[in-house]
Amino acid sequence: MGKVLVIGAGGVGSVAVHKMAMNADIFSDIHLASRTKSKCDAIAVSVKERTGVDVATYAIDAEDVPALAALIKQIGPKLVVNLALPYQDLTIMDACLIAGAHYMDTANYEPKDVAKFEYHWQWAYQDRFKEAGLTALLGSGFDPGVTSVFAMWLKKHKLKTIRQLDILDCNGGDHGQAFATNFNPEINIREVTAPARHWEGGQFVETPAMANKVQFDFAEVGPKNMYMMYHEELESLAKFLPELERARFWMTFGDEYIKHLTVLQNVGMTRIDPVIYNGVEIIPLQFLKAVLPEPSTLGATTKGKTNIGDIATGEALDGSGEKTFYIKNICDHEECYAETGNQAVSYTTGVPAMIGAAMIMQDVWSGAGVFNIEQFDPDPFMDMLNKHGLPWSVEELEGPVAF
Ligand code: NDP
Repeated sequence: MGKVLVIGAGGVGSVAVHKMAMNADIFSDIHLASRTKSKCDAIAVSVKERTGVDVATYAIDAEDVPALAALIKQIGPKLVVNLALPYQDLTIMDACLIAGAHYMDTANYEPKDVAKFEYHWQWAYQDRFKEAGLTALLGSGFDPGVTSVFAMWLKKHKLKTIRQLDILDCNGGDHGQAFATNFNPEINIREVTAPARHWEGGQFVETPAMANKVQFDFAEVGPKNMYMMYHEELESLAKFLPELERARFWMTFGDEYIKHLTVLQNVGMTRIDPVIYNGVEIIPLQFLKAVLPEPSTLGATTKGKTNIGDIATGEALDGSGEKTFYIKNICDHEECYAETGNQAVSYTTGVPAMIGAAMIMQDVWSGAGVFNIEQFDPDPFMDMLNKHGLPWSVEELEGPVAF
């Protein structure tokens, strides 16, 4: 039915392209471009073996707007799916505007020299996408992505207003390494070392990184320590659910991860400002990334499950008073690896990326302008989650969270 161009050949790009190939009725012509063409080729070989579908591959620097716009014009896709890094969001949006293609991503823009990811840079493209008659869909991964859609589904089907929202992201997987990150190490470490921020009383409240720890018993994983941190969907949820009194994001980390990260931070290895070494400028965090395992190599050894969901409290739609619901997905690392050759953290992002893309390719979600995922009807997206490997469940809890 349509032509799609995916940019980025990491774990998330790999899962999304495999899943697109499994849905050839929606994605009839798949193109994959990234900085290193050999990584695209390796994905194309795996997709061919698993599905019989051909994927065309290209080398591109997505920060080179004229070259990228030329590639998009040459291919002529309906949609460009950005699964490179947050640093490339704006240049890919620019190229889409020049070449006349819709745009989608899974992570909001972050400048390279400041660890501050915010939507305002991308929201500023609103008029340009509107005038061009093009759609830009922001944040169609798991978090952001599914966690936002979960909240909007609860708001549509269960709760008239959401007073309190807690997003709980648990990775109960074990990759057998002393220290490794399960997605891009540079992006991951910038995210977890940033100060925590949560929404309360109409504003963001900042607390030191990793200072707020709670133990939670996750279904099919067991008890884990989770830490409050800032995550980008809090910004869009606070905007599109104006009634929210409090919204927080929690992520689990093992003691070993925290210990290694603390040492790396204390010795300066997580710095993002340049230092001179042997007369050459290096950025410590980028050097650290180079010596850490590539997340895509962890798939073969990772065992266990992820459990990610939302707990929301508010006034019930049926007028029965205040209610609390817990909506979540549980995903098995080994099953994801068997299906796509990638572990569950890439899988839980790549599948919603494919689904968000399917919404645009089929014109189920449409409109001219820049949209966050909260602005579209959650139902068709939620249906596809159930059918394409990320089934969800919803249950009523006895009362609001006690932490
Ligand atoms: P990886 O680092 O594994 O892959 C990123 C890919 O982008 C690599 O193939 C890399 O190429 C390519 N790339 C980097 N810079 C450029 C450039 N200038 N031009 C073209 N290609 C480039 O990351 P992941 O697959 O783990 O993550 C991909 C995206 O998904 C990230 O933006 C991440 O933040 C986001 N994400 C979102 C989540 C969510 O739930 N919303 C969860 C996890 C990730 P090369 O190999 O040559 O370096």
